[in-house]
Amino acid sequence: MRYCVFAGLLAVFCLLSAPVAAREVRTVVIDAGHGGYDLGMRVEESREKDIALLMAKKLQRAIEASGRFGYLDREVDHYMSIEERRSRANERDPDLFVSLHLSGTEDINIYVAWFEKKDAELSLSEYYDIEARQRRHHHESGALARAVAASLREAFAVNVYVIEMALPLLKSVGAPAIMVEMPSEGIEYGREGGKLVSALLKGIRQYEQD
Ligand SMILES: [Zn+2]
Repeated sequence: MRYCVFAGLLAVFCLLSAPVAAREVRTVVIDAGHGGYDLGMRVEESREKDIALLMAKKLQRAIEASGRFGYLDREVDHYMSIEERRSRANERDPDLFVSLHLSGTEDINIYVAWFEKKDAELSLSEYYDIEARQRRHHHESGALARAVAASLREAFAVNVYVIEMALPLLKSVGAPAIMVEMPSEGIEYGREGGKLVSALLKGIRQYEQD
């Protein structure tokens, strides 16, 4: 009995004193939007597919430098279907999934999946449907989106919106997942891409601590 009380007090003490990260992000899958004949939008002389890949590689390097594992779902310029992206992501069993696109404006949009039906309205097979793997991580995706949005707002004087949308790729990823539409105006990616990547990583760190 005495031991139990002591152990209990020790546990409380440890909880109060140890700076334990609330979540641990070890593995991140990064999806570089578009590719191959799917060019995405045109931004002056550049194309969205190339900027997405450039930024995905920068983010991967930053994630690796922070002691985590970062995987790209495409490393070169080729077309990938949503199903391929989904299976690449899910086979890594990541702690986070981040998809990169451009917004078409100077604003930043961060998407999380949206589901028409509430969990309680689903049959078991619907709940475990591969098309809806995101369901179990939906709350975490929202937390990730808010942390990344706060970090991006701090770094860039632009509007950052968090939007729920029924995007097939996000809905089928079995991990906390966001799609970040980066600004397509008012930023020069060769020069300022690093700043954006730092802000994304800071948001991920904040998500771990929240
Ligand atoms: Zn896009």
